[in-house]
Amino acid sequence: MTSETHKVVILGSGPAGLTAALYTARANLSPIVISGSQPGGQLTITTEVENYPGFEHGIQGPEMMEVFRRQTERFGTRFIEGDVTEARLGKRPFELVLHDRSIFAESLIIATGASAKLLGIESEKRLMGYGVSACATCDGFFFKDKDALVVGGGDTAMEEATFLTKFCRKVDIVHRRDHLRASKIMQDRAHRNPKIGFIWDSVIEEIHGQPDKTGVIGARLKNVRTGASSDVKTDAVFMAIGHKPNTDLFKGQLEMDEFGYLVVLAGSTYTNVEGVFAAGDVADRIYRQAVTAAGTGCMAAIDAERWLEEQHSH
Ligand code: NAP
Repeated sequence: MTSETHKVVILGSGPAGLTAALYTARANLSPIVISGSQPGGQLTITTEVENYPGFEHGIQGPEMMEVFRRQTERFGTRFIEGDVTEARLGKRPFELVLHDRSIFAESLIIATGASAKLLGIESEKRLMGYGVSACATCDGFFFKDKDALVVGGGDTAMEEATFLTKFCRKVDIVHRRDHLRASKIMQDRAHRNPKIGFIWDSVIEEIHGQPDKTGVIGARLKNVRTGASSDVKTDAVFMAIGHKPNTDLFKGQLEMDEFGYLVVLAGSTYTNVEGVFAAGDVADRIYRQAVTAAGTGCMAAIDAERWLEEQHSH
């Protein structure tokens, strides 16, 4: 599989990448999926997924991605574990450099997703999916009548906190400064909401709880002005300190917006480089849902298939 040129190479193995694989595999294009550093993508760090149509009783995120993967394998998709360290998109076939070899592609579907920014503390990692989350839309429902902290001072934090008040008893926004970065309208909405409180000048030092037993039970906060630490009780901690699209590989090669998301031609998955398509969160700053990612993955597969057909008919 090393020196030959593949018709379709897909970068990323979340819902966008795997749906693109399913469709291209069924179109006899023998896709190769390079699964990336987090095989299965962001859904592998959530617990139950209840809003993906077709799973009436919900499904665990990691299990859902296993099902996606097996479905693509049934039609002959091949997987390469690991990460691409360099992408050369200047000429066709495109060259993708992995640590021990290069892979060549006539067409490329980029579905490398976005990563929620996290604090980087050990307890956050340990309790991820057990009360720690980076997605209120995904996990808010599990905290009916419970208390939650939301970390961050931008629009995402305001939006997540406001959304959580549909379920939670009380939501406190923990922000490292004493004023918000969020737009005025989002700030006003949060300030007006009686369920939302603010803990200013504070960062989370540690999150308390046991993954399988208690889940999150509290957190230790530090006031960055006074240096004082304090413990608060809470049932959930939502990280809302921003997302980062995984597009570093393509800097200077593909058109991106001011936040680093790939730009696609409206209503399609075409990037500015012919033969390169983008699907899922890597090109979506707005919706960022599993089902929208799968939808654009399907679009990318169809776009790539038609584009390849055109190339070969000349
Ligand atoms: P953002 O605007 O970059 O805000 C990130 C927030 O997290 C900031 O308040 C920042 O604090 C804080 N933060 C960053 N790293 C931190 C850390 N390690 N520890 C503690 N706090 C940390 O990100 P965003 O809120 O995700 O928004 C991204 C873009 O999407 C923005 O342009 C936003 O307007 C847009 N957006 C719009 C909407 C909407 O209009 N409906 C919704 C969501 C997002 P500092 O303020 O101190 O830097």
